[in-house]
Amino acid sequence: MTADTIADNLRCVRDLILRLERPFELASKDDFARVHQIKGLERLVKAAVDEAMKGAPQDMRGLLEDLRATFAGYEEKSLEEKRRALKRGREILQEMEAAFDLPEEVETGLELLRTPLSSVKGVGPKTFALLKRKGLETVEDALYNLPLRYEDRRHLRRISQMSPGQWVTGVAHVLAAEEVLYPKSRKKVFEVLLGDGTGFLTAKWFQGWEFVKGMLRRGDRVIFSGEIKGYFQQKEIHHPDLEVLDQEGESLHFGRIVPIYSQTEGLRQRRIRGIMYRIITDYAPKVRSPIPRHVERRLGLVSFEEAIREIHFPSGDRHLEALQAGTSPYHRRLAFEELFLLELGLALRRREVEQRPGIAFKTHGLRLLEDFFQSLPFTLTRAQQRAIDEIKADMARPHPMNRLLQGDVGCGKTVVALVAALIAVANGYQAALMAPTEILAEQHYETITALIGDIGVKVALLTAKVKGKEREQRLEELARGEVQIVVGTHALIQEGVSFHSLGLAVVDEQHRFGVMQRARLYQKGTDPDLLVMTATPIPRTLAMTLYGDMDVSIVDEMPPGRGPITTRVFRDPEAKEAYLILAREIEKGHQAYVVYPLVEESEQMDLKAATEGAKKLARRFPQWRVGLIHGRLPAEEREEVMRAFKAGEVHLLVATTVVEVGIDVPNATVMLVEEAQRFGLAQLHQLRGRIGRGQAPSFCLLMARGKLTPEAERRLRIMEATRDGFRIAEEDLALRGPGEILGVRQWGMPQFRVADLARDLHLLMEARREAFRLLEEDPHLERPQNRALKHAVIRKWGDKLELARIG
Ligand code: ADP
Ligand code: MG
Repeated sequence: MTADTIADNLRCVRDLILRLERPFELASKDDFARVHQIKGLERLVKAAVDEAMKGAPQDMRGLLEDLRATFAGYEEKSLEEKRRALKRGREILQEMEAAFDLPEEVETGLELLRTPLSSVKGVGPKTFALLKRKGLETVEDALYNLPLRYEDRRHLRRISQMSPGQWVTGVAHVLAAEEVLYPKSRKKVFEVLLGDGTGFLTAKWFQGWEFVKGMLRRGDRVIFSGEIKGYFQQKEIHHPDLEVLDQEGESLHFGRIVPIYSQTEGLRQRRIRGIMYRIITDYAPKVRSPIPRHVERRLGLVSFEEAIREIHFPSGDRHLEALQAGTSPYHRRLAFEELFLLELGLALRRREVEQRPGIAFKTHGLRLLEDFFQSLPFTLTRAQQRAIDEIKADMARPHPMNRLLQGDVGCGKTVVALVAALIAVANGYQAALMAPTEILAEQHYETITALIGDIGVKVALLTAKVKGKEREQRLEELARGEVQIVVGTHALIQEGVSFHSLGLAVVDEQHRFGVMQRARLYQKGTDPDLLVMTATPIPRTLAMTLYGDMDVSIVDEMPPGRGPITTRVFRDPEAKEAYLILAREIEKGHQAYVVYPLVEESEQMDLKAATEGAKKLARRFPQWRVGLIHGRLPAEEREEVMRAFKAGEVHLLVATTVVEVGIDVPNATVMLVEEAQRFGLAQLHQLRGRIGRGQAPSFCLLMARGKLTPEAERRLRIMEATRDGFRIAEEDLALRGPGEILGVRQWGMPQFRVADLARDLHLLMEARREAFRLLEEDPHLERPQNRALKHAVIRKWGDKLELARIG
């Protein structure tokens, strides 16, 4: 049998799939709601099978017969029987489909991706070394090395037809190339005289021309592009993009839309382009995407091969703008694949963690807990109680808890976490509470020791500040199990601290503690329960990528008796008024914060603004005590200032943004933010969370200085309009995009090669939906047709999500 007839054979099976897939899906949709409306399925199946039988390969005939039998007498069947038939029908279609992509074939494709570039034709050791410097080592790296931009070189212009103001591409010879000293400015300029027989053009470089100079020789033919400028009668082009043309392979660089790649010293654009072209022609057709065809079709995705080919070497300009913006159907295809694999990975991980053996804690009738509630100076809110109930139910199950506790600043998450910790302790286990900063860890330590009182639980603080003998001793006590609750920074899990029996890990302020770090926790041996707390509400869409593998509890209620907060934006001329409100509050016996922004991450500057602000305020209000706190202050001094502020000895606390988390002083009723236009929404929201903690009304005064950008204006208006953390988070997302909010790497966000969450949120939702749909049918991706997909997920996210145990 020739290859062609094989393809024909499969084609008739494919036709059958295309014919039946939609009707089956429609009938199954919304839990088979429309089963009765869809008539004639039996006839349709029979006709399709008869047609396919005419040419189907031998090994498909069994499935085809099976399909026909499944739908025999369908119209007379009961609802339940119809459901079963439809389910089986869909399975059969998928199995047939799998024949197109034998898993082995996909896996061979995945292997191919790993081919080192050194074994690609035309890539010698020297070139390989250069490529490696760019981070390109394998065929896969190369395929995903997307162009920075494109140049439309289909229309070359003659120099005589170029006029000032136009963006042009042309080809010309180098007539002269030299550095010229301009006498007036006494600066050197690199000038290249270009000619194409219709006219002359001078290309100029005012700096950084060494690279160009090194590659140009007189007589070279070059292709250039840039904007034409006119000076008197002369045409010039400044810092054009320029490539030397040689004889062979001309068509790749010319008369078409060409990709421009990020360059590296020693590798010219043409060379990179040539290599890329070869890799794409040789490898892209052989790589089989692991995405099931039915998913591709439902979402209207182009094939992997087409996507790669069109992204690198567009065949026309239909999608040129979208290609430049990264929003073409080809980008969508590749981005979807990344997101789909991630979502599958998260879902698999969730299922897998759910099934790992964990500790089944006893959660009822615990003496320790009763003692604790007896000594608690307040009653829990309903929302707190609900969260605790959910946590208890999780902890009681013999599998690790994996829960996110979300709630606005001040809603009382710490108590909830503490209850979880006490459950662990009462069961003879240890609990660890981790915060992102030392200040916050210290604060938690204080809160917890105060709340715990004398119920006889040993709590220890372990931060970088605890050193030497003391540190050793605490580590030992932890290892022996004498310390029951340890509070520290994230370093606790990073530095190989060993526990006697860690039963629960609580992680606070987690968006710096993403899915990757969470995975690391499980590598500590036993599988502890995990509770992640976030004070910054995260938009749902983002929460899905960061916490797609977790259950969520929401504390959406504030403890009673909290005063209202008035938020107002002030402009320069109104500064006096803002400070008057502040003064009035202090005179009433309250306290206030004045916060200065962090300037360009320069601690020096930031220090200066805050220090001077504090001095000015002290001069202006000599009757008050003004404190100053910033990141540079030694820990003891910082603590002393904080202690004094908490004790009411300091009236006015001037601070840099270090105040944003962890400070709880109910008597403080004013938060005055200087240069509020420089702060992000999330930060402002956090700062405002420092006030409104007592019964008296509070004031958030946002001092906007200078001219505001429309964005800054919008941020400040949002702050005035709402206190709803979720709304603020959504607005923040809309204004800044997720990259900014999540700062990818340090916050444990997965990194993508093509997908960009700022752009592809919608696609992320689709990917998630598809992933869940697939797992509903095949929870562990065990069916033969999904084997390759599973392999791809593990290959891509296995390490990072610690999926190893699934494989
Ligand atoms: P956050 O959710 O921001 O971590 P905290 O846990 O720090 O909030 O709680 C803020 C303050 O409210 C703390 O002083 C805490 O003791 C107090 N608090 C917590 N729950 C209640 C409650 N149910 N009633 C009264 N005060 C409470
Ligand atoms: Mg449990």
